[in-house]
Amino acid sequence: MNTPVRKVVIVGGGTAGWMSAALLVKMLGHRLDITLVESDDIGTVGVGEATIPPIQVFNKALGIDEDAFLKATGGTIKLGIEFENWGAEGDRYMHAFGPIGRQVGMSAFHHVWLQARGEGDTSDLWDYSFNHHAAKADRFTRLPQIPSTPLEGLVYAFHFDAGLYARFLRAGAEGAGVKRVEGIITHANVDGASGNITSVSLKSGESVEGDLFIDCSGFRALLIGETLGIGYEDWTHWLPCDRAVAVPAENGARMRPYTQSIAHKAGWQWRIPLQHRAGNGHVFCSDYISDDEATGVLMANLEGKALADPRVIKFKTGRRNSFWEKNCVAIGLSSGFMEPLESTSIHLIQTGIVRLVQMFPTMGEEPSLRAEYNRQLAFEYERIRDFIILHYHANTRTDSDFWRACANMNVPESLKARIQLFEESALIFRDGNELFAEVAWLQVMWGQGIRPRAHSPLASNLTGDRLKGYLRDLRTIMESHASKLPAHTDFIRTHCAAGQ
Ligand SMILES: Cc1cc2nc3c(=O)[nH]c(=O)nc-3n(C[C@H](O)[C@H](O)[C@H](O)COP(=O)(O)OP(=O)(O)OC[C@H]3O[C@@H](n4cnc5c(N)ncnc54)[C@H](O)[C@@H]3O)c2cc1C
Repeated sequence: MNTPVRKVVIVGGGTAGWMSAALLVKMLGHRLDITLVESDDIGTVGVGEATIPPIQVFNKALGIDEDAFLKATGGTIKLGIEFENWGAEGDRYMHAFGPIGRQVGMSAFHHVWLQARGEGDTSDLWDYSFNHHAAKADRFTRLPQIPSTPLEGLVYAFHFDAGLYARFLRAGAEGAGVKRVEGIITHANVDGASGNITSVSLKSGESVEGDLFIDCSGFRALLIGETLGIGYEDWTHWLPCDRAVAVPAENGARMRPYTQSIAHKAGWQWRIPLQHRAGNGHVFCSDYISDDEATGVLMANLEGKALADPRVIKFKTGRRNSFWEKNCVAIGLSSGFMEPLESTSIHLIQTGIVRLVQMFPTMGEEPSLRAEYNRQLAFEYERIRDFIILHYHANTRTDSDFWRACANMNVPESLKARIQLFEESALIFRDGNELFAEVAWLQVMWGQGIRPRAHSPLASNLTGDRLKGYLRDLRTIMESHASKLPAHTDFIRTHCAAGQ
């Protein structure tokens, strides 16, 4: 690329393709000509329903009205993820969004709470999570702050139908000028001298030319993998699950404002309530359980009647060695895959396209942009990888070979160091601008049974009755405010019921 970039071609119209098209046309549409090529015959991966709070930032950047979006996608609210049977069988904890307690002076809240435990307090860590109180009571409203207090209110994300989200974004993007070409791409054409992609050829004989190509072709990685030959760093030795079986079902009696993640003998099951159905799936490791057995486990654990036949999806956890190569940027499943345990895939699409918009190669060939983009994305992928490995590794289950192997595996040094620091001091530090904050690491480490031997001496500035009173007040405020919130179902019915 040594001429200004004007023509952008997006290959693929799944969640990644349409999120990319929507943001690009919104932010840079005045200077770009954007074409998206997709094939209805090939279709999309067709799963992906749970998100994390930064998606709100993405939707706001697009000027999307939240109620309209929830209506269009059959969406519900997500306040966190409940993990069942993870640390040990019968255990249950939540990775709730939002803060836990409130920082005291220079001391993170959990040190203060550990101080109290040392003095005999028996309260639970999640007694100080407002999100947890609301989630377990199936309650929600938009509440940025707990009234008459300095305490943060509810921090939320969404469950939604990713296919409907793509359709919703498509309408806006096409309205703003993105051209859509329907057809099957047979191959991409490369300039012999520069190695850049010049066009993609379709089965129809048509070809679509561009200056910059965004590969959103899903697991197939048509451009970044097949055309440019960029390899894949395989993380299966750390995250051994390699398949999922998914099935939509009728909703159960409750519409929980949180995702459920239930560990089974060789993997785990998700339950995601949407307005019109529940998404269900069982992520598993094929070395330990067959497709039929895994399907049996899933079907035996549905809360409502199945609405379709179960479908097995194969995957390999890992990432592309390079996300941006020549004039091609891989976004979505073509860039890598991590299982949906912490709902990070759609988020990685978001950060990929946001970064590309921020580092857009307006003037053509700019290797420094490419290098920085690849560095930032690799860092983000690796920190998320560590966070997901933590869930598998920190278990004390003895009921299956799978869980024993996970407990005994050799984890990345970066994760080892983090666990050790917590065990020795209860300290947790966010690494640069990694996705998951201290409070997320805390909940998973504590929830999975990792116990620190000491805590910060700063916390001993508040002790005895003053400490007891402080904690009691926090609990009371959170409990009483959460119990008065509207029911999640009422919130949906009032603000954003689908089909109205
Ligand atoms: C089991 C499972 C569960 C998941 N759950 C979650 C979740 O809860 N939360 C979350 O954030 N993410 C989740 N994900 C990830 C999420 O599904 C994806 O990140 C997201 O859907 C993006 O997919 P994509 O657009 O990259 O690829 P796809 O949806 O596969 O889209 C690929 C596009 O490329 C087009 N295409 C491919 N080849 C050609 C060709 N030759 N010619 C023309 N067009 C072509 C296809 O037609 C399609 O439009 C999950 C993934 C899996 C596998």
